[in-house]
Amino acid sequence: MNYISTRGNAPALGLSAALAAGLAADGGLYVPRSLPKFSPSDFDDCHDLPRIAERLLEPFFAGDELGAELPAICRQAFTFDAPLRALATPQDHVLELFHGPTAAFKDFGARFLAACMQRLPGDTGKPLTIVVATSGDTGAAVGAAFAGLPGFKVAILYPDGRVSPRQAHQLGCFGGNVRAFRLAGAFDDCQRMAKQALGDAGLRAIAPLSSANSISLGRLLPQMAYYADSALRHFRATGAALNFVVPTGNLGNAVACVLARACGLPIGRIALATNANRVLPDFFAGADYAAQPSVATIANAMDVGAPSNFERLTWLYPDSAALRREFVAASIDDDTIRATIRERRARYAEVFCPHTATAVHLLEILRTTGAAKAGEDWAVVSTAHPAKFDSIVEPLIGAQVPVPPSLAALLARPAHADPLANDYGALREILLA
Ligand SMILES: *Cc1c(COP(=O)(O)O)cnc(C)c1O
Repeated sequence: MNYISTRGNAPALGLSAALAAGLAADGGLYVPRSLPKFSPSDFDDCHDLPRIAERLLEPFFAGDELGAELPAICRQAFTFDAPLRALATPQDHVLELFHGPTAAFKDFGARFLAACMQRLPGDTGKPLTIVVATSGDTGAAVGAAFAGLPGFKVAILYPDGRVSPRQAHQLGCFGGNVRAFRLAGAFDDCQRMAKQALGDAGLRAIAPLSSANSISLGRLLPQMAYYADSALRHFRATGAALNFVVPTGNLGNAVACVLARACGLPIGRIALATNANRVLPDFFAGADYAAQPSVATIANAMDVGAPSNFERLTWLYPDSAALRREFVAASIDDDTIRATIRERRARYAEVFCPHTATAVHLLEILRTTGAAKAGEDWAVVSTAHPAKFDSIVEPLIGAQVPVPPSLAALLARPAHADPLANDYGALREILLA
């Protein structure tokens, strides 16, 4: 399989080269030149997530030096389940993606990327530093995935005072080869400084750097596997396709769902829930696509004004009228997120994180309006465990949220983050040291 740029002006690369490059040379995103076509029976002998991932990703690894390693990569990355559970409302389900070490779906992508990068040939003998800017969840997932991995260091940049207390603790708890920096600035400043470092050829000649952001194929490809797994389980039980509502920021998770469907998995419709950042709902309502400044919400991992994977969506659906017909999208504001968390707990004893609550509410809208028909099975995608956002969720439900064991283990460790000035020179000095 070769990978081409969404902008069409960069050479096609094999998987390993595309993984190492991150962004294509023309500024586009790598996409597979063609998509394999599966039918559900192709997975008849695959009964767990690592096996389904292996079968699904085989064509994407074909012809690459990492191909022979794919079974080992899948076994190393997919060590926890993505259960599909019934909700209290009929024919509604939740796909729980938060059973990994840092209690958010980003563990799947980060662990798979780390397992791939560990097997790519290094060219220097010097450790490779992964520079990651985070609004909270990505940094922890990347830190956990690379912690203790020989040959790698991680530098996490997060906006001081703008992540939840538990997110901050997680970011600073790894120690060893993972360092956390609390930057005196906003997430955009963290991202700008990380980009500046990655574009600093003089720095990279001395201190090899790489990124782990959501446009990486190493994060996108494995995310298809949990959609395949849940859709196949549902199909085997009912003979019908499963429809999804995906909470969306940069569209990484949602594009993985779209790709899995395009590869022939039994996935029906896909609805996109955003928070008050409404670039996508505006586009799907007919406006021209235009990036907007991001606004801060209580679903902070989705505070995105320019969804980076939008280019992959328009590559898949070049005709915007067709693209608009294909998806439903809605913006859910903070008050509605709060009301949804409160009501689902009071009426059904269900507790959701603020991100997941956007999708729960969108499904409620689809059911009420009849857009999601009686008889159709829908799954809300749960992107994080509510205990990760205890400071928002607990006051709303008036109760404590039990902390899952893996998250408790991280919170029990001491945490430390170094202060960092909002100045590229300061970061450069640290990376050179
Ligand atoms: C990152 C994140 C999202 C958004 O995912 P995208 O792939 O950027 O759309 C949603 N919820 C949580 C909890 C996240 O960490």
